[in-house]
Amino acid sequence: MTDAAGRRELPKTYDPHAVEGPTYRRWLDMGAFRADASSERPHFSIVLPPPNVTGSLHIGHALDHTFQDYLARMHRMRGDEVLWLPGMDHAGIATQNVVERELAKEGKSRFDLGREAFVERVWAWKATSGGTILGQMQRLGDSVDWSRERFTMDEGLSRAVREVFVSLYEQGLLYRGQRIINWCPRCLTALSDIEVEHEEIPGELAYLRYPLNDGSGALVVATSRAETMLGDTGVAVHPDDPRYRHMVGRTMRLPLLGREIPVVADEAVDREFGTGAVKVTPAHDPNDYEIAQRHGLPAVDVLTEEAVVNANGGRFQGLDRYAARQAVKDALAEQGLLERVEAAPHAVGHCYRCKTEVEPRLSLQWFVSTKPLAEQAMAAVRNGVTRFEPARYEKTFFGWMEGIRDWCVSRQLWWGHRIPAWYCPDGHVTVAREDPSACAECGAATLRQDEDVLDTWFSSGLWPLSTLGWPDRGPDLEAFYPTSVLVTGYDIIFFWVARMMMLCCHFQPPTPFRVVAIHGMVRDAQGKKMSKSFGNVIDPVELMDRYGTDALRFALIRGANPGSDVPLAEEWVEGGRNFANKLWNLGRFVLSSIPEGTKPEDLPAPAQRKLADRWLLSRLERSRAAATAAYDAYDPAEAARLLHAFAWSELADWAVELAKPRLAAGGDDARRVGAVLAYALDVTLRLLHPIMPFVTEELGRALRDVDTITLGPWPLERPDDLDEAAEADMADLQETIAAVRRFRAEHAVPPARRPHLTIVATGQRQAALFRAEAESIRRLARLEAVEVVAAGEAGATVAAEAGRPAAKLLAAGAELRLPLAGLLDLDEERSRLQRERAGLEQERRRAKAKLANRDFLEKAPAAVVDRARARLAEVEASLAQVAGRLEELTAITGG
Ligand SMILES: [Zn+2]
Ligand SMILES: [Zn+2]
Repeated sequence: MTDAAGRRELPKTYDPHAVEGPTYRRWLDMGAFRADASSERPHFSIVLPPPNVTGSLHIGHALDHTFQDYLARMHRMRGDEVLWLPGMDHAGIATQNVVERELAKEGKSRFDLGREAFVERVWAWKATSGGTILGQMQRLGDSVDWSRERFTMDEGLSRAVREVFVSLYEQGLLYRGQRIINWCPRCLTALSDIEVEHEEIPGELAYLRYPLNDGSGALVVATSRAETMLGDTGVAVHPDDPRYRHMVGRTMRLPLLGREIPVVADEAVDREFGTGAVKVTPAHDPNDYEIAQRHGLPAVDVLTEEAVVNANGGRFQGLDRYAARQAVKDALAEQGLLERVEAAPHAVGHCYRCKTEVEPRLSLQWFVSTKPLAEQAMAAVRNGVTRFEPARYEKTFFGWMEGIRDWCVSRQLWWGHRIPAWYCPDGHVTVAREDPSACAECGAATLRQDEDVLDTWFSSGLWPLSTLGWPDRGPDLEAFYPTSVLVTGYDIIFFWVARMMMLCCHFQPPTPFRVVAIHGMVRDAQGKKMSKSFGNVIDPVELMDRYGTDALRFALIRGANPGSDVPLAEEWVEGGRNFANKLWNLGRFVLSSIPEGTKPEDLPAPAQRKLADRWLLSRLERSRAAATAAYDAYDPAEAARLLHAFAWSELADWAVELAKPRLAAGGDDARRVGAVLAYALDVTLRLLHPIMPFVTEELGRALRDVDTITLGPWPLERPDDLDEAAEADMADLQETIAAVRRFRAEHAVPPARRPHLTIVATGQRQAALFRAEAESIRRLARLEAVEVVAAGEAGATVAAEAGRPAAKLLAAGAELRLPLAGLLDLDEERSRLQRERAGLEQERRRAKAKLANRDFLEKAPAAVVDRARARLAEVEASLAQVAGRLEELTAITGG
């Protein structure tokens, strides 16, 4: 709709749902987010941490994406060529679990389908049910370049994965080896160290007696997993332990199975643990495996993939590990070989996906030698090629990297990048970029490909390279690599950031990103982690439905102090909605009140600006500079707070109120103040656009009659607008008006009562200011008239006030006198305050009694008790205020 002047007319209230969808589509239609690799502009690029294809938008994404979007939008407005590249991760275990659950409902397992059909089924699932999150990203306003959307299983990305696997193998940085790995007996796959969550369990320590083979005595060993004794192939003691020195080299008879096992001496044995003699179970414990390697002890695997005892476990075969634990202890006890069992809580690893207890398992897996890669990654950070924001997270990064162990990259899954290694009947290994037709070593034509796939993080570790077309040196890689900044939560610094740094620094130096900007986790208002079990999870989509997207984005960004956790409560999103409405009303006022044809760019010449104009432009310039600096420092929370304060209080409240009579009067001055308001609004909208893109776009377009503000320009620097004198004068005026308003509010003076105010200014200069602005003071403080005298020249006028009861207020160093006659009925006011005091005192008594009640303190939830305490503090504060006002009243009436 447009009005007679051709200006777009805005509806009375802001309806986010009517604006957001069409606005986003318009941006897509105009290609606003599409990056041009051949552009001459400075390049700015971000790769989106790829969400799982199984995922939907949670509140953590909402923060993470809004953070990236502010950077992308700000740089776009500043004229950079911006690429924000979106995509999804195939999420190996997670996706396979989803499809397996679906199959289970049909009474089938993946083995019923076979590998090929199962993988096809996963692709079909992805096509119909995967990627819910992409539509939700559009609702959130993500300004990503959809024409470059990628998926970790795409052909191009798979080629990058294969190239890296083969190259690492050729460089001796990737190998296949027998290692004890973390095994999930439910997911039936290996897990890397960081996919294991350690958790304290009650646990026990069982002391088992192993007799010497010659019947001359026995040795006692302690274990928390008694069933593993079925796989023992030795007993180890410390070489310097006098208790056992004479035993070294002798053999024991393994109870229950009768196997002969030697006693060996090894430095790795902890003399303080248990009895100082340890059973050696090479197939089920990483330390035992190393001891066994040193002493040539065999490894006997006694568990199946599902952690059930296998044929090596003799009569215990078929029992799961927990049942076997009890059965072994019972059998030993019967033979008098169970010395004792004591409670011993200890940490046990659990699968991060399904929480099943992890079983250490000996198996043949592929590993990446991470040490040399980690060195390169750490060097990039040490040399400042990559910088962490905030810098304290560099320590976390170094901590992880220094303690790094070789990375087990093979997974026993079907969904993922299949390992490009082939085995011939003689066991030769062929690792190749193209599927081989013959063994590289012996030429045998029958080859079997490795069944395993690669860890999901192997492909996401290549994300900044593979998405830009690597290994080809195409235009995107040339233009946008290294990327400008990576935005992510501190929780995946190791999972993801470290891996990208290791692989990308190695394959495409110097670094994948110039800056790593770390943000915190979204928590509830009490700072508690959001989780289904606490019932405090906030759904960002629901919040967008209820309050609009800008409201959610503003609330998240306002709480996102650099690197720290982000508290969020629904009320704050409501506050974001109120801010969007405030902007809307401000926009409507400016558009409807400024004289026809007034444009933001028609700012009056400095000599023609009134105090309010000079003040507003100065405050605007200061806010622009501070907000821009905060945005640049990866501190959008500070920018949000600054801009909110400026837009709400200074622009929408003060500046608009001060401008009203000038606009109403019309003429040149109306045109001038109209241009100042329009200009200030335009700049404010542009500064807020990176955080609240929708409402600012709608208003910004109407204000300037342009198609979009999302392509800029960013507000220019105008240092000449800074005007300290105007800001100081305006502060005096604001303080004065606020003091009268506060008095009126505290004493409940009806709006219609308009007193006469006398100001005794600090001196001639201030008196001149108040005289010049008397009309503004009169109107904004709802006064009949304003009279100004300078201190020391308080002549007849002030004398005339003497003897009559008047309130004396202090503001900006001046004294404000308000005659009380006709303003408030003193007796009525006094009894009103006394009633208020009585009510408060009663509430205080009740609250104190409650807090003295032990039953309440012990049984009520902590939050309820806290609330009661806070309420009491509020009541105390109100009482002090009422007492103060009663005292004031007494002073005024002179007794
Ligand atoms: Zn699992
Ligand atoms: Zn061969």
